[in-house]
Amino acid sequence: MPVPPDLFARVALDTPLTTLFDYRVQYTGHGEPPIVPGQLVQVPFGRRQVVGVVWEMTQRSEVPSQKIRSLEIAWRELPPLPADWRALMEFAARYYQRALGEVALPALPTHLRSAARWPRLLAERGARHFRLDPRGESALLASLPARAKARRRLAEGLCAAGTLDADEARALCAQAPELLHQWAAQGWVIVENTDADDYADAAAPLEVAAAPRLTDEQQAAFEAIDAALRREDAAPAPFLLHGVTGSGKTEVYLHAVAAALLHPGAQVLVLVPEINLTPQLEQVFRRRFPKETLATLHSGLAEGERARHWLAAHRGRARIVLGTRLAVLASLPHLRLIVVDEEHDPSYKQQESLRYSARDLAVWRAHQRGIPIVLGSATPSLDSWRRAQQGRYRLLTLRERASPDAVLPEVRLIDLQREGQAQRALEDGLAQPLLGAVAQRLARGQQSLLFLNRRGYAPVLACDACGWISGCPRCSAHLVLHKSERRLRCHHCGLEAAIPRACPDCGNLDLAPLGRGTQRIEETLARRFPNARIARIDADSTRRKGSAQALFDEVHAGAIDILVGTQMVAKGHDFRNVTLVGVINADAALFSHDFRAGERLFSQLMQVSGRAGRAGQPGEVLIQTRYADHPLYAALLRHDYAGFAAGQLAEREQASLPPFTHQALLRAEARALAVALEFLQTARDLGQTPELASAQVTLYDPVPMTLVRVANSERAQLLVESPSRPALQQFLSGWVARLRDTKTAARWYLEVDPLDI
Ligand code: ADP
Ligand code: ZN
Ligand code: ZN
Repeated sequence: MPVPPDLFARVALDTPLTTLFDYRVQYTGHGEPPIVPGQLVQVPFGRRQVVGVVWEMTQRSEVPSQKIRSLEIAWRELPPLPADWRALMEFAARYYQRALGEVALPALPTHLRSAARWPRLLAERGARHFRLDPRGESALLASLPARAKARRRLAEGLCAAGTLDADEARALCAQAPELLHQWAAQGWVIVENTDADDYADAAAPLEVAAAPRLTDEQQAAFEAIDAALRREDAAPAPFLLHGVTGSGKTEVYLHAVAAALLHPGAQVLVLVPEINLTPQLEQVFRRRFPKETLATLHSGLAEGERARHWLAAHRGRARIVLGTRLAVLASLPHLRLIVVDEEHDPSYKQQESLRYSARDLAVWRAHQRGIPIVLGSATPSLDSWRRAQQGRYRLLTLRERASPDAVLPEVRLIDLQREGQAQRALEDGLAQPLLGAVAQRLARGQQSLLFLNRRGYAPVLACDACGWISGCPRCSAHLVLHKSERRLRCHHCGLEAAIPRACPDCGNLDLAPLGRGTQRIEETLARRFPNARIARIDADSTRRKGSAQALFDEVHAGAIDILVGTQMVAKGHDFRNVTLVGVINADAALFSHDFRAGERLFSQLMQVSGRAGRAGQPGEVLIQTRYADHPLYAALLRHDYAGFAAGQLAEREQASLPPFTHQALLRAEARALAVALEFLQTARDLGQTPELASAQVTLYDPVPMTLVRVANSERAQLLVESPSRPALQQFLSGWVARLRDTKTAARWYLEVDPLDI
């Protein structure tokens, strides 16, 4: 019999090293390769055992044969991660300039990355059967010494019967469960769940909801998507669904999802920006598709749950997968449609480790699979809007609110300059006209929503006598006063301190809060409207798991009269009885150094305005401002996203800013700013050597970041820019490879397509 050639698995491991790692693989008795790409395996790595993903199989390894180690454990019961998932990981690694393993392994739920948990993950529910793999028969018996009586009894029993259930197995040998799973890992035994169910959420039966009749605009949008779903020949261009708030974008998604699910086995992926929006949307989907298995994926799930949901998606059992940005990295072998709701939302961008944009990866994924993707928003990102203008995305427009009785709210400005004696007219930050409007809603039994993007009681505590202010000792930032918790808190490094009873510098007892946060507004309202039921929704009031949902439920149930909140309340929620939205302090963002601040503010205000007047009663939006002439507000009063976007794009083009150029940031931090700056200077010099430099790529001077110190680290950055994305990509890959070999005491990372500059 010919000797089979050597065989090696090339495995991706979670390390910053950009190579795959080779392991020798033993053939099974029949000469066919026992391992395939995409399989999860556990391999020795240094002194540890670690989980990796097999990326390719090869008959030749560069590693000297005495150094190469053997692959011993593979998770054979798990279908391999499909080729399109692996392609997505490769793309993300390449695009964001990271090592493949650093991308692929963290994309898996934690429980899948521990081999000890594998047997249980697939077998948690349902009765189990153990079936002998015909290829395992001789190997299994051969592996057991004659003196291992109990183990041999189990093996022989299994060989004789072909399958055993858990009780039969235990009767033969007390350690049967462990042994059978070990043998399964060797590929000798197959574990089967009788009801083949690793995932079935026993959700309470819900009232099934019938679909409403689509409006003409909704119908047209749906038909375009449906046509793309039917066409199999070419990859459809992404759809940009631009619909005013309340225009019923969700209904278009639901119809598109229903159409996609007509294909046998097909899966759909629906992305939302905020964890808090998933329960609401999950209900909507469960009601509409009561027979389909739905899995959610977001960071709020317990690890075990997340692993089960992920597996349900991976095995094709979950046909609807609904999640936040991390869901875009899930394995979805039968993916047929992707929906990205609120596509403009900055939360789609991950701000740590792999700094990816879930929206951008979703677009890539759809393109690669040749399936439709729907990007929905009332205020699309300028990037997506421009692509639609260029015809690269297909624009679908909903101009009207969907409910026959809902109209867009009237937006008015409260001019604080004109209110005269601004300070006196403002009772703790709330102008008289706004207070009057709230009182009116209270009298009518309607709800008001007050929006203020600043949590805490006051952004800073100050001493009038000597000028002391509460600074964070570890950051170049202020400590925020949290009165109800009696603490000062740094929102950047998390430092907490007691509220000093007197000024630490001069002993003055009269320390005063400066400025206003949500807590202070809540306090003012409580004083002003003692009988009103007031709730505050921000990151502080919703720290406990489930508390945000509970508060939102109260609002929906009408148990709240006045809701005060940060951008958490602005997004997506369909409040039926809110007829007044008050915007308390939006001006701060008008003059930010960040060129995207205007775009973000406009979309936030449009979003929060969209919470008013959604059902029947007309809505009103009041915006307090000192800059009533500002063009951003003018566009907002007209509900004119297109006009606003055109103005912004013209400015960006003039200034050669994104989307007219492409950017990356190299960021470095160290104990001393000089160390960070020196590394960046070295990096810049390196990038300008003839070997790397590109005429199309500009490297700017290293500069300290605006918030230079956080948690005792000093931070600096270097901007890289190019009008050509491929040129930028090519430059970055050569540059980063060299940077990896550069010695420095600074920690550094690269961010491609940064959102905050
Ligand atoms: P958007 O996400 O575009 O802001 P929603 O999807 O939340 O809007 O829809 C707004 C409201 O309009 C919801 O209460 C929804 O039930 C209702 N709605 C959507 N489509 C229709 C329709 N065709 N007929 C009647 N009501 C609709
Ligand atoms: Zn003082
Ligand atoms: Zn701090």
